[in-house]
Amino acid sequence: MRPLVRAAIAVRRALLGAATLLLCACLAAFVVYDAGHRVPLVYAVLAGGLIAALVARRLKTRLDAIEPAIGTELEIGALAMIGAYLLVVRADASLDGAAYPAVYLCLAVVAAFGRPGAALVALATAVAIEIAIILFAFGRRDPWEAAPHIAFMLIFTGFNAAVLRTELARVRTAMVARLKDEVEKLRTEARSYRLLGGAAEAPKPSDDERLLRSGVEEIHQSVLFALRLVRQALELNTAMLLWKNDAGSHLRISELVTDEPELFEGPFLVGDGVFGAALSKNSIVTLEGLKEGYKLPYYPAACPVRTVCVVPVQEHGSVRGLLVVDRIDDRPFTKHEQTMLQEAAEYAVRAIHNERVFLQLERAKAEQGKLYRAAEALNAAKSEQDVIEAGVRSAREVTSVDYAALTLYDDATKTHEIRAISGDFEEGDGTAAVGARFRANTGLVSMALENRHPLPYRGQFDEKKQTVFTRHTTPPKMPSLFVLPLAAHDRALGTLVLGSRRRGAFGESVRGTLEVMASHMSVSLDGARMMKRLEELATTDGLTGLLNKRAMLDVAEHKIAASRRFGRQLAVLVTDIDHFKKVNDTYGHDVGDVIIKGLGDILRRAKRTTDAVARFGGEEFVIICEETDERGALLLAERVRTELEKTTYFAGPAEGSSEQRTLSVTCSIGVATYPACGTSWEALFKAADTALYASKQGGRNRTTVYSAPPRSERGERAA
Ligand code: GH3
Ligand code: MG
Ligand code: MG
Repeated sequence: MRPLVRAAIAVRRALLGAATLLLCACLAAFVVYDAGHRVPLVYAVLAGGLIAALVARRLKTRLDAIEPAIGTELEIGALAMIGAYLLVVRADASLDGAAYPAVYLCLAVVAAFGRPGAALVALATAVAIEIAIILFAFGRRDPWEAAPHIAFMLIFTGFNAAVLRTELARVRTAMVARLKDEVEKLRTEARSYRLLGGAAEAPKPSDDERLLRSGVEEIHQSVLFALRLVRQALELNTAMLLWKNDAGSHLRISELVTDEPELFEGPFLVGDGVFGAALSKNSIVTLEGLKEGYKLPYYPAACPVRTVCVVPVQEHGSVRGLLVVDRIDDRPFTKHEQTMLQEAAEYAVRAIHNERVFLQLERAKAEQGKLYRAAEALNAAKSEQDVIEAGVRSAREVTSVDYAALTLYDDATKTHEIRAISGDFEEGDGTAAVGARFRANTGLVSMALENRHPLPYRGQFDEKKQTVFTRHTTPPKMPSLFVLPLAAHDRALGTLVLGSRRRGAFGESVRGTLEVMASHMSVSLDGARMMKRLEELATTDGLTGLLNKRAMLDVAEHKIAASRRFGRQLAVLVTDIDHFKKVNDTYGHDVGDVIIKGLGDILRRAKRTTDAVARFGGEEFVIICEETDERGALLLAERVRTELEKTTYFAGPAEGSSEQRTLSVTCSIGVATYPACGTSWEALFKAADTALYASKQGGRNRTTVYSAPPRSERGERAA
């Protein structure tokens, strides 16, 4: 189906392209014609409108597209030039009038904003129209008359492409750099408030970015409000909150209200003057009666204030920053004022703390939502394949990993098999593919499952040293990888292998979530397997592994309905071992079981893939053969009968003897065919059973085909 769809899309695209080309050619021809014959104004307006509409539409497509198609730009280039010539021709009726610069202008715009290809197409269109107008519209002979204009066009295009492009590139680079700066600043602020886990934490997806932004904004507002309040209440010149950086080596202004026009913004060394004093003493430091020459770290020029008070800001018992306030007049900070400042500092810490808790809650909520959806998807999955697919999908959603693979382990053969892979990686040499199998080894997958513990330890993956599947079957190259074991009730089921292009993607919090998800997956996988086993138990016979009676009744209804629909023949065979009671009595029930199983094997080997065989009870079997007539059924029955007759079974010594005993048994078979002997299952089975009875009556070890009255035969059927 896929190549067909692709071909259809390609044809559609080619047709659309051809249609646009034709339209452009028609419009250009119209412009040339108009230059020579001056069509009525209404047609020119219509053509102009059409060109404008087409250009507008393509411009919209180009602006909307993330990665604008080159085709769109080429069309805009060509259409713009046709439009420019229409304008020139209508306005001046010549190529030397006042409107002609419109052509240059158009070229310049296309050259500056479009890709080089678009500029070339615009140029080619202009040259073609120019020459066509001179030759066909003005009826002159010499195409070289166009040369001066074309030379100008070349200069214009080249010049604009070069100059404007360089300028645009410069502006773009500057903007990108500024944007990056802003984001980095935001991250630093968030980190210093500990909204982000730490310096090593990699960038989070955009949801988190938004959450973080609003978190930082909330803190700004709360702290700013507190600072404004104390400034008014205590008649301060400057009030600011300084916050330590991660390393604890510097202080940065995180919030500031001041009357001072000039202020040094830091960062300040933690040991700087009065800051250092407050930090090392971990108590309020006040300075009074300051002279103009006194050096406060944050005033670049002469000291404008007479009193300063520095309050350490504590969080969980350690100093995280400073609240610094000062006053122009020489009024010392009273005890009461100092208490108030301390309260303001506590308020700031609480605001930051609240925001952090809120952020954590939000994150936990988002995570729980994802886990909940994953659990729902896993619960809904009933088959093993469904669970695998839902699991791999959920894993990618829960942690936004780039790669997810699921392996299943077969304990009987001690092999792992890769059953699903999800991720947009190029497949290279040795890249693991679905279906790859490998024996238990010392790779992460094997070890994680064996030890029932996620690996690598603490998510620290080393691409160069660690094997994931095997040395020759590897996941795509990724800096982060994590293997979770899937096990239920101590049964090893498989593993979930997750990978990320981000370094350090499997941090502690993520690992916890993933383990919860993996245990969900294990339970679902185990459940799906149990369902399958139950289903098998319900439809197969335990001794022979063939269908049981209940399943056979379903199959029979299906096969008879199909035969009826397609007007085909169908045969039913019923077999019964002869004198089986005697076998049980002589050799024991266990030997009897071996023989029942043996006949089951003979039937399994003799049947075609479309035939169905069931143990109907005791030592009776039923075979349904599609598209089989009386002759075919008889051949099958005789093959089974003779094979059983030829088979020797070992029965072990009799009581009181050491001699090994052997035995063989025979069976009798009854055959009935659809539609000759009946058209329902009941009728067919009854007919086959009647034929079987006839075989028994006729002396056993024979096949009888139902007919009224039934004929009996031994070996080859007697006519
Ligand atoms: P006939 O030739 O007329 O069929 O004689 P028979 O002895 O085989 O008679 P029948 O088919 O009625 O006997 C079925 C016997 O099969 C009865 C029971 O002892 C034995 N049987 C039924 N189910 C099992 C089983 O699961 N294992 C064993 N070992 N014997 C079974
Ligand atoms: Mg029987
Ligand atoms: Mg029997």
